[in-house]
This record gives sequence, structure tokens and C-alpha cells, in this order.
Amino acid sequence: MAGAKKKKAVRKKRRSAPGTGQSSVRGAKGAIRSPDERMAIYPGSFDPITKGHVDIIRRACHVFSRVTVAVAYNPNKDAAMFSPEERVQMIYDSLPDLEGEVVADCFTGLLVDYARRIGAGVLVRGLRAVSDFEYEFQMTMMNRHLCPEVETVFLMAGEQHFYTSSRLVKEVATFGGDVTSFVPEQVLDLFHRRLARPRKR
Ligand code: ADP
Repeated sequence: MAGAKKKKAVRKKRRSAPGTGQSSVRGAKGAIRSPDERMAIYPGSFDPITKGHVDIIRRACHVFSRVTVAVAYNPNKDAAMFSPEERVQMIYDSLPDLEGEVVADCFTGLLVDYARRIGAGVLVRGLRAVSDFEYEFQMTMMNRHLCPEVETVFLMAGEQHFYTSSRLVKEVATFGGDVTSFVPEQVLDLFHRRLARPRKR
């Protein structure tokens, strides 16, 4: 119990400067660092994190020495079920064994600017079915145009996650469907509470 408390305190400390990357690497606020190809960012909305996301994060950890799971949000157009801070918390809660390897953070603005700020050399994206491909292809080309020094890498989750998406999980749960197979057990409680009482903005 005492150990768990200590861990939480460490995590809190690391999350003190969302969006600056200072939670994961040392450096002056807003400073541009040269890209490190061992450092990857896995960006997404994670609203909420699903077992498909967790699968991709674990695979990314096998390939890269540091993975930053970056919650993208737009303060002017926030239709998300969970606040950026809640999403960051849910990511940590879903990966208790990856303390130190994974950093969760949130950012707004261009992903490539965030990558430059924290010095990450790789963007990780997950691919499910062919339907993901066109959007991911466009995003990759645009990010490459904006920031040629940052490479995008695609990983595929296990086949049991092929049809899992945050959007579908929310839809099914809204109508009373059982989503325990798709959402990490650590976040189910908050998820159900939020369904019962939607977030105030
Ligand atoms: P979603 O598409 O579920 O709303 P995000 O926007 O947070 O999720 O997605 C972030 C990244 O994770 C995207 O590259 C997306 O394709 C990938 N991803 C999401 N769910 C899965 C899954 N079940 N398997 C593989 N990749 C996934």
C-alpha cells in the first residue's frame, strides 16, 4: 500500500507540465531538441483508452526505449467524454507495470511541434482494418511534409482488438452493452460513472 502511494507521488511529479514534454525529458520550456529515434510518441484521443491502445503501447515499448502516450485535445472544440487530465490518468492506471517506460502527457496544437519540443524521432500509429489506412496515410504524408526528420511507424494490435475503437466502445456502452472485453479493467469504474453522469464543460 505504501509502495503504491509512493508510485503515485512519482507519477504526479512527472505530470507537472502537460504539453511541454517536461514530464518525460529535461529541457527548457518550448525548447526544440534534436530528434531521438529511440523516443516515440503514440498520439491519439484515448477517449477512453481501450485494450487495443494498450496492446499498441506494449508493442511500442518493445521497440523503443521511451514511449510517450500523448493525448491530443482541442480546448476550443472539446466534445470528449473525458478531460485531457482524466485521459492521462486512465493511461497510467491501465499500465501499472510500465512505470518508467511509458510517460502519458497531453498536448494541443500540431503533433510535429510537440514531437520537436520533446525531441521524439518517431510517431507510432496503430492500424486496424484497411479503413484506417487512408486517414493514416494522409496524416503521415502531412506530418512528413511539416517535419521530415520525424518518422511514422505503424504497429498492428492483436487480432482480438481489430474491431475495437473508443468511439464504438462509447456507443455500445451508452446503450447498455457490455464493454468489459474492450476497456482496461482499471478504467471501467470511471467509464461507467461518466456514462451515468456526463462531464460538465
Ligand atoms: P480511436 O480511433 O479508437 O478513437 P485514437 O484516436 O485514440 O483511437 O487512436 C490513436 C491511434 O491508435 C490511431 O493510430 C488508431 O488507429 C490506433 N488504434 C486505436 N484503436 C486501435 C486498435 N484497436 N488496434 C490498433 N490500433 C488502434
